[in-house]
Amino acid sequence: MKNILYVDLTERSSKVIERPELFSTYLGGSGVASKLLLEETEPGTDPFSPDSPIIFASGFLVGIFPCMVKAVAMFKSPLTKNLGESHAGGYFASALKFAGYGALVIRGASENPVVLKIVDDDVKVERADSLWGLSPLDVEKTLRECRFEGMQSIISCGRAGEKLINYSNVIADRFHHFGRLGLGAIFGSKKLKAILINGRGEIPLEDPIAIKEKYEELQNEVVKSDTMLKYHNLGTPSNILEFNERGTIPSRNFKESRFRGAERISGEVMAEYFLERKISCPGCPIACIHLAELKTSFAPEHEKGRKEIFYEKVLVPYNYEPMFALGSNLLVDSPKDLLRLIYSCECLGLDAMMVGTILAWVTEAFEEGIINLDDTLEIEPRWNDTEAYLQIIQNIVDLKNPFYIKLAQGLDAASEKYGGTEFAMVVGGNGLAGYTTGYGAIAGQLVGARHSHLSNSGYSMDQKTLDQTISPEQIAGFLINQEDWLYVLYSLGTCYFARNIYKKDIVSEVLKIMGIDNTPEDLIQIGKEIFHNLFKFKIREGFELTEQKIPNRVYQMQTPLKKLEVEKMESIIKHYIHKRESEGLQLQPEEKALKELLSFEG
Ligand code: SF4
Repeated sequence: MKNILYVDLTERSSKVIERPELFSTYLGGSGVASKLLLEETEPGTDPFSPDSPIIFASGFLVGIFPCMVKAVAMFKSPLTKNLGESHAGGYFASALKFAGYGALVIRGASENPVVLKIVDDDVKVERADSLWGLSPLDVEKTLRECRFEGMQSIISCGRAGEKLINYSNVIADRFHHFGRLGLGAIFGSKKLKAILINGRGEIPLEDPIAIKEKYEELQNEVVKSDTMLKYHNLGTPSNILEFNERGTIPSRNFKESRFRGAERISGEVMAEYFLERKISCPGCPIACIHLAELKTSFAPEHEKGRKEIFYEKVLVPYNYEPMFALGSNLLVDSPKDLLRLIYSCECLGLDAMMVGTILAWVTEAFEEGIINLDDTLEIEPRWNDTEAYLQIIQNIVDLKNPFYIKLAQGLDAASEKYGGTEFAMVVGGNGLAGYTTGYGAIAGQLVGARHSHLSNSGYSMDQKTLDQTISPEQIAGFLINQEDWLYVLYSLGTCYFARNIYKKDIVSEVLKIMGIDNTPEDLIQIGKEIFHNLFKFKIREGFELTEQKIPNRVYQMQTPLKKLEVEKMESIIKHYIHKRESEGLQLQPEEKALKELLSFEG
C-alpha cells in the first residue's frame, strides 16, 4: 500500500500521492502517521486552525492476518497541545485499505457541517447540516448503506466534538472508539461531522498460498490457545474482581485501591445479567467487544415520570477502563447506573476515561470546598450520585457557565484555576488509567508518547514483578523496550490484545512472507525511530518531560508495593531520559538545551 489520499475541506478537493518509500520505511499505522504529522503540521499550529491536519493510517498487515485491524489517528491534541494519537478497531482501517489507500490526510475546514464520503476513488465532501447535533450512534444509522459490496466504515463526532470539548472522541462503526486526546474536537473545528468509507478493492499479495498457510497457523493460535481466551469470555471487565483482590483498582479518586462495590459491577455479574451480544473487528475471531442491554427512559418529562413503561433498549459497549473511570473511581456500584454513564459519553462523543477523571475531581473538590454550588449551578456532586454526574456531563457539553467551560478544557486547566492539583489525576495532561499497580503504571504513562497505559504497558510490568525488587534503571529499560516494540505492532495494525501472539520472531517471519526481510533487531530499530518521531513532534510543540508534574495523590495511594516514593519515581524518569538521550533523541527543546549549555559554559 503506497497511496495517500489528501482531502482539503476548505476547497472540497482531493488528490492522491504515491509515497512507496514512506510505507516501506515505516510499514503503516503509527509509523507512517508519525512522519506525516511532522511533515504536515507547521510548528506551533493551533489545534483548531484549519491548517491543523488529521492523519489516519492503516496498519501494514490490516486485512491480511488475524487480529490486524487497527487504524491510527494523529493530530495536534487540543487537550495536551502536543501529540494526539488514538487507535481504533472496527472497520475503518480495512475499509481505507480496500478503497486503495494506506493513509488519509485531512486539512482545511468547512463553513458548514460536512461529511467526507470515500467510495474507492470517488471522493466527495458533502453538506451534512441535518447530521449536526446528532449522536454518533444516529449518524452511523443514517449513513450506513446495507446494499453495499465490500467493506464499509462510518466514523463521527458527537455534540461534544461540535462544541470543541477538549476530550471529545470519534466513534467508529458504533461500538469502537478513537478515544483520548480530543480527536472529536478537531472534527468539530473543521465542521467535519463524519467520514464514510466504502472500499471494494483488493489487497495485492505476492504469495497468497504462503500467506494462507501462515494465516491458518496464526488463526489456530488465536482461537485454540489460552492467550486471548480471557478477552472473549468476560472481556477486560474480568480485571475488576482480580484487581480488587490484589488492591490495584482505583477507587474514590485513587484514594483507595479496593472498591467495596466491585462484586456488583464485576465482569461476572455483567455477563450473567446484562450481556446481550459480543462482537468482533473484521478478521478477528475473538469478539472481545461486550455489549450490554440498557433500557433508557423515553422523554420521562413527557410521560409524567412513568419511565418503566416508556423506554427503548440500547446496546452499550463496556470494558474495564470506562468501568473503572465511571464506576469504582466514583463509587458507582449499580451496573445500570454505570451503563447509563457510559451511554451518556457514547451519545455525546466523550472520552469516558477523561470524563470519569474529571467527575472524581469535581466530587472531591466539592467535598473540600474548593468549588461550590454557584460553580456547579446548584448540583451537589456526591460519590455514587449518578443523576448529578449525568447533569454535570451535560452541563460540560452545554458549556453552561465559566466553571463548566473550564472543565471542558480539561483537568489541568480546571485545577489550575480552582485548585486541587494534588488530586487532579492526570499526567502529561491525560487522565490516569485504572491501575494502582506501582511505578511502571505511573512512570509509563508519564513518559509514553500519548500518555496512555497502552504506550508501554508499564502496569503489566508491575503485575509481573510484584515479588521482585526492580531498580529504577530496569524499569526505565523495560518501558523503552516495550515502547519500541509496541510501535512496530502499532504500525502493522496489530490489536494490543494480540501482542502475545505476534512476538518478535513471528512478526519477522510474517513480514518475510510478505516480501519484507527484517530481523527482529531491524524491527526494533524501526520502532525506536517511530518513537523518536513522535517525541520530536511533542518537543517541537513545547512538551518538556522534566517539567511534567505527578499529582501528590500518587504518593499517598496504596499499591501492592505500599506507598510509592518520590525519589524512586524521579530516578526512573532520570534513567529514562538518560537512556533515550543516549540513543540520540533530544528530550529538551533545542532552544532551552542551548541556553542551559551556554549558561553552564559561562
Ligand atoms: S481482540 Fe477485540 S479489539 Fe482486538 S481485534 Fe479482536 S475483537 Fe477487535
